Amino acid sequence: MSRFLSEKYRGLEAYTPGEQPRDMHYIKLNTNESPFPPAPEVTAVLNREQGNLLRLYPDPTAKTLKQKLAKLYGVEPENVFLSNGSDETLNFAFMAYGEKGAVFPDITYGFYQVYGDLYGMDCAQIPLKEDFTLDYRDYCQRGKLVVIANPNAPTGMSIPVKQIRRILETNRDSLVLIDEAYVDFGGETCLPLLRGFDNLLVVRTFSKSRCLAGGRLGYAFGSPEVVEDLEKLRYSTNPYNINRLTLALGEATVDAEGYYQDCCTRIIRSRRWTEEKLKELGFHVLPSQANFLFAASNRIGGEELYRELKRRGILVRHFTKPRICQYNRITIGTQEQMEIFVDTVKEIIWGGTYENL
Ligand SMILES: *Cc1c(COP(=O)(O)O)cnc(C)c1O
Repeated sequence: MSRFLSEKYRGLEAYTPGEQPRDMHYIKLNTNESPFPPAPEVTAVLNREQGNLLRLYPDPTAKTLKQKLAKLYGVEPENVFLSNGSDETLNFAFMAYGEKGAVFPDITYGFYQVYGDLYGMDCAQIPLKEDFTLDYRDYCQRGKLVVIANPNAPTGMSIPVKQIRRILETNRDSLVLIDEAYVDFGGETCLPLLRGFDNLLVVRTFSKSRCLAGGRLGYAFGSPEVVEDLEKLRYSTNPYNINRLTLALGEATVDAEGYYQDCCTRIIRSRRWTEEKLKELGFHVLPSQANFLFAASNRIGGEELYRELKRRGILVRHFTKPRICQYNRITIGTQEQMEIFVDTVKEIIWGGTYENL
């Protein structure tokens, strides 16, 4: 830290992304990326013509992509906000709506607390219940920015839309942000509630189900007024936040919807398979509606399993937070990767042989 840094940032604890080591080739099950490439029509966008166009600024209004998303999801272009990854939308939302503080679960996406700290907000982390379920009543009548990932991360568990409706009804004068980063893997979207609630912001991403984590593209749905707020902050920060290539990739992605639904179906199938295998091996596995499983073994500690897997070329995500340190978050890869993963887990917990069971 230099001696020039503003006082208010000196104590800031930044977000720690999942590791992206370069020392060897790993089976990467640690950052919830897709194991599948983007659709062929999407990668075809990266041609010489697009390369030559890079001399020009991108369309700051992202008109075409907004229109395509609005059509696909049955809303108006005025309901759509786009950002450089959904993290950027989260950033703007905390900036815009955090004046009275924020509430979110104790076990959830770690970035919420970081944004809260960045803006000096008063944040209440509400403990999930013992079994990691979320009691929606904890979020009713808060009068603050409510932030819920649905499905949640790293648990993968979700709440029904009728409970989100209750949260919206009882917080009419504050914004409710529902982070649907994982909704395409079996969750229920609350998007239809947009018609009745001007306090709803639904945040989504192309990073997970749209195989585009490296492109950095997020989208969100809100009332035209809420979108206007976010646009004001975006134009006050970086109007060209989404680069020209990513905009083109995003448009092609929306056009290839069928391909991505197929990818999600395959992920869900492999998730069910992996869940079953882990349970057979004595793991406690939370019921997941996401592209990952959150699981704890009754034979090996969470951190030890993480280390042993890494030694054998498989990366999973381990968190040191006391409540969840016995667990690992395992991204669902291809079926083949999951078979290697399960075999490797067996090797680790059975000490290299299959005999002692
Ligand atoms: C991955 C993730 C995001 C951020 O995704 P971007 O890559 O920034 O679009 C946001 N929220 C949750 C819960 C996530 O898991």
